[in-house]
Amino acid sequence: MARSASIRWSSTLVDRPRGIILDLDGTVYRGAQIIPGAREVIERMRQGAHPLVFATNAIESVEEHMDKLAGLGIAVRPDEIINSPFVLIQRLQRALPRARVFCLGDPPLIEQLAPHFQFSEDPNTIDVVIASTDRTFDFRKLSIGFHALRKGARFWATNAEPTWQQEDDEIPDAGAIIGALEACTERKVELVAGKPSPFMAEIALDRLGRSARECLLIGDNLTTDIAMGQRAGIPTALVLTGLSKRADLERASVKPDYVLESIAEVPRLIADIG
Ligand SMILES: [Mg+2]
Repeated sequence: MARSASIRWSSTLVDRPRGIILDLDGTVYRGAQIIPGAREVIERMRQGAHPLVFATNAIESVEEHMDKLAGLGIAVRPDEIINSPFVLIQRLQRALPRARVFCLGDPPLIEQLAPHFQFSEDPNTIDVVIASTDRTFDFRKLSIGFHALRKGARFWATNAEPTWQQEDDEIPDAGAIIGALEACTERKVELVAGKPSPFMAEIALDRLGRSARECLLIGDNLTTDIAMGQRAGIPTALVLTGLSKRADLERASVKPDYVLESIAEVPRLIADIG
C-alpha cells in the first residue's frame, strides 16, 4: 500500500528532489481545465529552484503544449516539454535514419515526423508502420498497415493507452490502433516511445541532469507514469485527479511511493516548497 502523503520522505529518498518530472493531462490540467492549485505549485517549484520537465504521451507538438500551458497561466520553455513524438523520432533517427514511414496518426504527429522522414503508402516501400492516436482511422489505413507489416515493416507506436480521457468523455486511443494491426497481422508492436518506456525516462533525466533517485515523478496514470517511474528507479507520486482512482491501487501491480489527492498537495511532500 502506498504511504500517506503526510509521511515525509523515507531515508532512501531525498529530502529535496533535485528534479521534478510532471505529467500534463490529468495532473496539471484535465481537458481545457487547469487542476486547482497546479499553477501555484509549479510557481513554487520554480521559486524553490526545482528544475522540472513535463513528460506527456500526447502527440501535440511542443509549441502546442506551450501555448496551452501559457493559456492556463503557466509559462514553460520548449526544452521543458517532452512529448511521445519527440522520443519516437529520436529513436527512429538512431535506428533507421532514412526510414520511409506510414503513420496512423493525427495531423500533429504527421507534422512532427515530416521534417525527418519520408512518408509512403506503398506497402512494398514502407520501412516502419507508426501507430498512434488516429481520429481518421479507417479500413484503407488499416489495409496499408496490414500489408506493410505482413511484408516485414517495423512496428512502432508513440504510445499505447487503450483510451483517452476527455473532459466529459473517453475516446479510443493509440492502443486501439495497435490492437487492430496486431489482430490482423499476428505481429506485436515492437517499440512504444511514450511512458512507460525507458526512453522517455532517459530523456527526462538527461534534460534535468539528475539521477533517477534525485527526482520525483508526478502523474495520474498507474500504467504509464507510475510504471515508468518504478522501472527507472524514480520515486513517484500518484495524483487522483485523472485516470487512476484510489480503488485501482488495490489491484494494481505497480504502486506509487506516494498518493496525493491532487498536485496541490505536492508541497506536503517537499519540505522546502511547503
Ligand atoms: Mg496523465
